[in-house]
Amino acid sequence: MPILEVKKLRKTFQSVVAVDNISFSVENGEIFTIIGPNGAGKTTTLEMIEGLQTPDSGEIQLKGMNWKSDSGRIKQIIGVQPQTSALFDLLTVYESLDVFAGLYKRSRSIDEILDFINLTEHRNKRVKILSGGQKQRLAIGIALVNDPDILFFDEPTTGLDPQARRNIWDIVLKLKSLGKTTILTTHYMEEAEKLSDRVCIVDQGKIIALDTPQNLIQVLSKEREIHLSFPASIKDAREIIQVVKEYPGVTKVKAEQNMLIFSTTSPEESLYHLFKYTTENQIKVEQIGIKDLSLEDVFLSYTGKEWRD
Ligand code: ADP
Ligand code: MG
Repeated sequence: MPILEVKKLRKTFQSVVAVDNISFSVENGEIFTIIGPNGAGKTTTLEMIEGLQTPDSGEIQLKGMNWKSDSGRIKQIIGVQPQTSALFDLLTVYESLDVFAGLYKRSRSIDEILDFINLTEHRNKRVKILSGGQKQRLAIGIALVNDPDILFFDEPTTGLDPQARRNIWDIVLKLKSLGKTTILTTHYMEEAEKLSDRVCIVDQGKIIALDTPQNLIQVLSKEREIHLSFPASIKDAREIIQVVKEYPGVTKVKAEQNMLIFSTTSPEESLYHLFKYTTENQIKVEQIGIKDLSLEDVFLSYTGKEWRD
């Protein structure tokens, strides 16, 4: 049985359909990422599952329980990372955790949590002097005080520098190694790709794709983009365009100075023909690269829109 099941969830604000018939389920132990541009409906979806907003329609089951009949028990098994703006500036790190731990019957030791979020040495610092990354880690710590099974992190890495983002990823992966389930949102494709067991791509309140990162990319991976550069003496790769255009599988070709860029659904065959041509015509190829596809390409293919962080 999935640990979380969401069926036909819908939420509107006046004329805005924030979440439009979303259904998915999450298995125990998964890192499940909801990714989408600003306004896609990520926060609204998460907050409905967390019991903070009431859906217009649809069903939510957490370990087989629902908010109407089991809210008390659900609160014991979920952990919600608060917005860092909700932390109290004047409390210390330790005190912040202690305040939240006091809200639960069962709580983990604060020393253990401090160690887990790597803030032991900052335990007596006031929140207001913490860095952005440290505040996010503290907010994650607060989500952990009741030792929950399911964690919800809403854009925990937005605005952080790459190192601070990786520190958060490490915590999420440690939680997974403890068997916890994490549902997180992000608008960084790279993060979704690196961290998630499955990725749910949302746009305008709807799921446009949901699968493992590998599968999402594989669907597209028939088409690859190939870059070749020729020595500067070949001032113009444009005449090669005419030749490459005719190869089977080639969908797009362009040239920029001594660079040739083309997309093909048969990379091996296209390259075979191309190298035959360049050898026969004694054209030296300086560099060749085959672009790896990413989730950004998946988004583009489903929506027709370029992804922008
Ligand atoms: P995301 O988290 O993906 O950026 P949100 O769930 O915050 O998206 O918002 C989805 C849509 O719903 C947006 O168009 C947003 O403006 C709208 N929305 C969210 N909350 C409210 C609210 N309380 N009142 C009115 N509109 C809202
Ligand atoms: Mg949001």
